[in-house]
Amino acid sequence: MRIGAIEAGGTKFICGIGNEQGIIEDKISFPTSEPERTLEQVISYFEHNNVDSIGIGSFGPIDIHPSSSYYGCVTTTPKPGWANFPFLKSLKQVFDVPFGWDTDVNAAALGESMWGSARGLDSCIYYTIGTGIGVGVFAEGRLVHGLVHPEGGHLLTRRHPEDRFEGNCPYHGDCLEGMAAGPAIEKRWNRKGCDIPADHLAWSMEAYYIGQSVTASILMLSPKKIILGGGVMHQKQLYPLIRKEVQSNLNGYVSAKSIVDNIDDYIVPPALGDNAGLCGALALGLQTMEGSGR
Ligand code: ADP
Ligand code: ZN
Repeated sequence: MRIGAIEAGGTKFICGIGNEQGIIEDKISFPTSEPERTLEQVISYFEHNNVDSIGIGSFGPIDIHPSSSYYGCVTTTPKPGWANFPFLKSLKQVFDVPFGWDTDVNAAALGESMWGSARGLDSCIYYTIGTGIGVGVFAEGRLVHGLVHPEGGHLLTRRHPEDRFEGNCPYHGDCLEGMAAGPAIEKRWNRKGCDIPADHLAWSMEAYYIGQSVTASILMLSPKKIILGGGVMHQKQLYPLIRKEVQSNLNGYVSAKSIVDNIDDYIVPPALGDNAGLCGALALGLQTMEGSGR
């Protein structure tokens, strides 16, 4: 079986081909430009590479309700031309194969549950902490959708006592994304995250914010694994700091072995590494082939 995968990011698109074992056999990447031009490149790739199905993990927010007239669109985005552009429909007109469609982070959660850190588990939560913050939720063996889809990147936060940064989310100011995504770190400290030393206050502050939202996720959804990916998590010292925050926030109340004794194996990086997004899209393509998902 040859499955097509599209990781549709706000900065770059990655298209690839893989198989049902989650192995990527080929991939290309190009910058996200206006939708018509970007989709021309996607179409050209899959015209040269026949596939049996295609999974798309997209930047969001997106419309995931098949009965909606904007199904398959990114709904609200400042990216020129993309808001309500018929993304999925344009591809369906060209390729007569089943399509899987979900958020990039829901896709990554599914991919990690099939082939990665949450393999064999029926629940996990996937965070990407990069240019924005996104949260994907896999629970009771399926991806969670609802009114729209989970938007955990915009959870409200309690301020770190030493933090004077006002936050830079255009909608909420000091929500999680406004305080802890890559651009917030850069604005607060006047330098890029990759240039800030590992023992700097920036990282304990970062862990304070991420730890809060991971705690909220645990209390609300009780996932069996928490996976933290995205560019900011290249700062590996964040993992132990976040684990400590979570244990301290919960203070022994959630008496699961995974949290109390074994947290190093509970809050983890994506096992699929930088392929987590593309493998997620592959997982969506596979799921839609098998007709088991939604
Ligand atoms: P995107 O979210 O656009 O898909 P990334 O996940 O790579 O892409 O996230 C990019 C963000 O992560 C930028 O704000 C960048 O400054 C930050 N970032 C990338 N690498 C590092 C690093 N090593 N340390 C800290 N921040 C980083
Ligand atoms: Zn926000």
